[in-house]
This record gives sequence, C-alpha cells and structure tokens, in this order.
Amino acid sequence: MDAHECIFCEILAHREPGSFVYRDEVVAAFLTIGPINPGHLLVVPTRHAGGVGDLTGRENAAMFSTAQRLSQALRQSSISCQGINYWLADGEAAFQDVFHVHLHVIPRFPGDSFRVSFEHTTPARKELDQIAQSIAENLDQG
Ligand SMILES: [Zn+2]
Repeated sequence: MDAHECIFCEILAHREPGSFVYRDEVVAAFLTIGPINPGHLLVVPTRHAGGVGDLTGRENAAMFSTAQRLSQALRQSSISCQGINYWLADGEAAFQDVFHVHLHVIPRFPGDSFRVSFEHTTPARKELDQIAQSIAENLDQG
C-alpha cells in the first residue's frame, strides 16, 4: 500500500485527527477510534511499515519498550486497568486490518467484552520437535 493511502500515516502527518499519548522519532502511540476498553492504544512506527517483517530492529524494539512504558502509565492512571493484553495482527490471516504495523495495548478488567476463541491441539513430542527444527533452521542468525 502506498503510504499516502494509509490512515495511520495520515494520522502521523496530522492530516487526520489522532489522540496522541506519545511520540518520538521512531514510534508513536495514540488512542484507537474503536476501543475495546477506554485507554486502548495503538503503538506504531512513525515510518510506514506494512508488516512485522518490514520493521527495522530499532523500530521493533522501540514498539515493545514503548508498550511497556504505556502499560505502566495505564496502570498508574485513573483508567480501569487490572491487566493488559498486547495484540499484534501480522497479515490478513491474523486479522490485520490496517497494513501499517500496530501493536494494540489493551487495558483489561474482569467482565469486559474482550474474547479470544481457539482450540488447543495436543501434538506428540516428535511432531513438536520436527516443527521446532523447521523453525530453527529458518531463524535469521541476525
Ligand atoms: Zn502507514
């Protein structure tokens, strides 16, 4: 996607409104317009990057360190926050909706509407070992 068609790039450029909580040269955090709970934040790189694989190491690290700082701020604020979920959808199959990487920081409390539905599988150890090997063989030695 062209960065000029990207809603997050528009917000970062102040051509669309955004309720910012934090910004530096690498990352920014603002409130989502569709919060699960009040205080639901999105952490994004300030440079357009479609997916996790497009992030630099610095951007990736900054996203998570900023999410950690935001989590602490949420817990210390007046916002209802007894727990926090990070949610990052990378790719359409993972429910990514805006193709500018964004890490959700979601304040949680008992009885809220957040749900995740899935079924655990129970693979044999041999299968786990084969899968682990396949991933390890493709791991960037970075
Ligand atoms: Zn963008």
